[in-house]
Amino acid sequence: MDSGSPAKFHIAICGGGIAGFTLASFLSKASAVSVSVYEAKAEVRAIGAGIAVWKRYWDILDEVHSISQDCYQFGIKPPNWSSIRGPVLRKSDHLVTAHDFFGLTFGPHVLPRAVLLEFLSSKLNPATCTVHTSKHLRAYAASSSEVTLHFSDGTTATADLLIGADGVHSRVRKTLFAGDSFYGEPRFSGQFAYRMSCPKEMLPPEHIGLSGFKIWCGTGRHVTSNSMGEQIQITAYDNIPADHRRAFDGAWVADVPASEISRFFEGWEPDLVSLLGATERASRWAIHVVEPLPTFVGARTALVGDAAHAMTPHQGLGGGQGMEDAFILWKLLAHPVAQKENLEAVLRVYDDIRRPFAQSVAERSLKNGFIYGFLLPGYKEKTEEEIGIELGQSCEWLMEDGGCEAEWERAEKMLIHTVAVVENRSLS
Ligand SMILES: Cc1cc2nc3c(=O)[nH]c(=O)nc-3n(C[C@H](O)[C@H](O)[C@H](O)COP(=O)(O)OP(=O)(O)OC[C@H]3O[C@@H](n4cnc5c(N)ncnc54)[C@H](O)[C@@H]3O)c2cc1C
Repeated sequence: MDSGSPAKFHIAICGGGIAGFTLASFLSKASAVSVSVYEAKAEVRAIGAGIAVWKRYWDILDEVHSISQDCYQFGIKPPNWSSIRGPVLRKSDHLVTAHDFFGLTFGPHVLPRAVLLEFLSSKLNPATCTVHTSKHLRAYAASSSEVTLHFSDGTTATADLLIGADGVHSRVRKTLFAGDSFYGEPRFSGQFAYRMSCPKEMLPPEHIGLSGFKIWCGTGRHVTSNSMGEQIQITAYDNIPADHRRAFDGAWVADVPASEISRFFEGWEPDLVSLLGATERASRWAIHVVEPLPTFVGARTALVGDAAHAMTPHQGLGGGQGMEDAFILWKLLAHPVAQKENLEAVLRVYDDIRRPFAQSVAERSLKNGFIYGFLLPGYKEKTEEEIGIELGQSCEWLMEDGGCEAEWERAEKMLIHTVAVVENRSLS
């Protein structure tokens, strides 16, 4: 914020995850915007080990925060996109005929989640952005002049705008769609992800799991494995088609013995069985998603990240889509034409640009999960090569240059037009 000039907006961000911190860090660049982040946990902490960051998303972080230059301070190197290889897909659900059937010649850069969050935290401007921990939002109420946040500890806070970055089980979304649990509550996708890790030293040197990023595919299930430091990070998935979904009333995340997942892979190729057998515990995630919402915005409110569009994790896109939300919303709010008086119009543009895009990405991710599990209708008639090529094509957009600049160009034109229409209407 320019010293001495008052903030044009005070923005409350509920949730200090990837989406919330990306937005807070971007807004830290905007003059005349002040930000309070409210995080439920006692400390800001990433859950999970690695996160795949595609070039599209890296370019956004590079444009705003010069991540390629600054990442060394965090013990990571910038990606060399021409040398990163994506996953090798294997048909693995047979004891003796397992084989590679496709290798993606490009791929994402995998970062430790904690490092990404630390990097984003380092970009918060302490003069304009404050992070409050142990602040669990219960609900909010919007009036014509402000939005009031009600926390579980009985305290309140006010802001001009509330951003719900509070993840798949979002309270902001629940309040926005009060009385409509179809949109307010997340839906069980029918899929479980079992996250595990295994020290590389436990595997013999010739083990296939040591040779880079793999997707071990078979009917109804697949496993991803990739090395991070001295560990192999493994995630095993059940891919249950939509018509077999069931309600889930257990814990969304639970620590379970690895044997719970190993038994699903009996009869699969020996290297996969031994990889799973080398782990003792797994973190079982019941994957919940958000139904395609009719809107990402309400009175003085907008949703970003998983709160808006939690999706199945089969292309490594959820976190990146939260970054795109943050990029477009930041550019809109920081734009000179955006003012308190036309906030509603500004949010409408965010919704028009981001909602269809993010929802189509969610569909693509679900489809990929079914492809890895050979469950997509019509896929029995395709050759493995055709399936591989189709998968490769589905990732090409993630490697194009320029992040989401094209979406921003559209958003800016729409913003200027929409605000002009609103102003003319109020003059006439
Ligand atoms: C198995 C798996 C693998 C994945 N792999 C990838 C990948 O490789 N690449 C990728 O881009 N994406 C991946 N994703 C998706 C990605 O993890 C999510 O999209 C991303 O973490 C969502 O970030 P978020 O900030 O929106 O939500 P979250 O990370 O859920 O953060 C929400 C924050 O809000 C806080 N909060 C919640 N409720 C409240 C409240 N009421 N009041 C205050 N604070 C609150 C939480 O404590 C949390 O800190 C994967 C997901 C899964 C499950």
